[in-house]
Amino acid sequence: MRRLVIVLGDQLDARASAFDDVDPAVDAVWMAEVTEESTHVWSSKARTALFLSAMRHFAADLRAAGHTVHYARLDDAATRASLAAQLDADITRLSPESLVMTAPGDWRVLQALRAVATASAVPLEVREDRHFFGSIAEFARHAAGRSTLRMEYFYREMRRRHGILLTPAGEPEGGAWNYDEANRKPFPRNGPGLVPPRATFPPDAITQEVLDLVAERFADHPGTLDTFAWPVTRVQALEALTLFIEERLADFGAAQDAMWPGEPWLWHAHLSAALNLKLLDPREVVAAAEDAYRAGRVPIEAAEGFIRQVLGWREYVRGVYWTQMPGYAHRNALEAHEPLPDWYWTGETPMACLSDAIDTTLRNGYAHHIQRLMVTGVYALLLGVEPSALHAWYLAVYVDAVEWVELPNTLGMSQFADGGLLGSKPYVASGKYIARMSPYCRTCPFDPAQRTGDDACPFTTLYWDFLLRHEQAMAANPRMALQVRNVARLDDDERAAISERAAAIRRDDIAAPAGNLRGRG
Ligand code: FAD
Ligand code: SF4
Repeated sequence: MRRLVIVLGDQLDARASAFDDVDPAVDAVWMAEVTEESTHVWSSKARTALFLSAMRHFAADLRAAGHTVHYARLDDAATRASLAAQLDADITRLSPESLVMTAPGDWRVLQALRAVATASAVPLEVREDRHFFGSIAEFARHAAGRSTLRMEYFYREMRRRHGILLTPAGEPEGGAWNYDEANRKPFPRNGPGLVPPRATFPPDAITQEVLDLVAERFADHPGTLDTFAWPVTRVQALEALTLFIEERLADFGAAQDAMWPGEPWLWHAHLSAALNLKLLDPREVVAAAEDAYRAGRVPIEAAEGFIRQVLGWREYVRGVYWTQMPGYAHRNALEAHEPLPDWYWTGETPMACLSDAIDTTLRNGYAHHIQRLMVTGVYALLLGVEPSALHAWYLAVYVDAVEWVELPNTLGMSQFADGGLLGSKPYVASGKYIARMSPYCRTCPFDPAQRTGDDACPFTTLYWDFLLRHEQAMAANPRMALQVRNVARLDDDERAAISERAAAIRRDDIAAPAGNLRGRG
């Protein structure tokens, strides 16, 4: 054999650079399902099932197109436990002259596969990942010489460079770069109204086989497979994109930050998993949103708000990841060392907002951005959870979780563990934020307006406790000036009462159900 083309579970794109000059007559494709990818973090059943099903569908398409695919299945006794061990065994078995792959998304995987190639003395060519609008080198050039990185500047540069949502004169469509002011509203008091049904894809025979395998093999892993309906092929992913553009995009911006109990899907795109597996190209996603705006089908604030997520945030966090790894994964600027509460793996807490956010996470492998950032994320930040433990949780529970996107979102955006590299200030808020953006507090045993006393909302207590604990560090941040002024007004008795209740919350005798121990992760 001439070349073995390595295709990982999040590289399911036949137009990827690894395939550029492949000749099926002399080259073959290599894919592997290995236990380690589901166990290096405690991967949820839905996440593992999505990867395996999409991989099997992709391999079938490649075979139908005439490729030879050497595919190691998880249920084959001969399959090794890790990507590295499987590749090593297959190099010995197949004796390829060389290996080629598109750059992997994860630093860990790149190191492991490089080490195998070096040890086997088989040349490995790692090609640029063209899936993204920009390259890592371009991001590094953007970052060079800047003392701080800010997504907004990067995003404007990307809009200009790729000619997206610009007038013929090169100005931003509608006159502004960012329409956040017009977006991000709470729902009316009686709720969001009729939410369009999300795109669902009932399991076919390949998916069903995977669901059975995962249910048996990873029975004790978090989450459920009962609701599994994610797109697992490019055709299905395109269908999901069309449905989003037609039925949800128009209201995307306005409903972006709002939360409603029992409504996990709202007007979000639910496209992150299909994008991250490379079933969708971000260019076609952005173009579809821009076209809808230019055709007058969606307002500018919806199109711009959505495009900013894909062209801005998604590319930005990837750039941060690859220019900061491997050290980034170990950053802990606020020196947070609390364990992750056990109930993050079950949702069993009396706090209504957290209970619903974790419930939808485990039930669907999905929660929308504000649930991730302002509910599970803010609570962990205020509690002072060790960032690496929280990183392991986010990487495990979401179907769209791959490290290059999850890690900067968790460590940087959500936990401020990078000390302000990715975002300019910590996302901290008291229970009043959740009370404004949702009706959760109406049914919760706690009171978001109270920071001390038996009814005090744990978010609110911990918010003030966070400001007290980090008073000096926050005083140096101009964007925290208001909060710092507020905390300076607290007298000694109030400070002591806040600290006392925060300590009780950390002992978990308030936020956890009776008898729940902590400490997983
Ligand atoms: P929408 O809200 O409809 O957004 C549209 C698309 O924009 C998404 O599909 C996604 O591709 C992109 N996008 C939006 N926000 C971000 C962002 N902050 N970073 C990168 N891309 C973004 N996203 C992942 O894809 N994988 C993860 O593992 C992941 N982990 C996260 C962990 C934390 C702590 C936080 C705060 C956010 C995380 N995100 C992650 C970002 C974001 O929450 C998800 O992309 C989004 O919720 C996915 O749902 P959606 O497709 O309905 O997105
Ligand atoms: Fe969440 Fe606090 Fe509101 Fe309860 S009172 S739902 S814990 S913010």
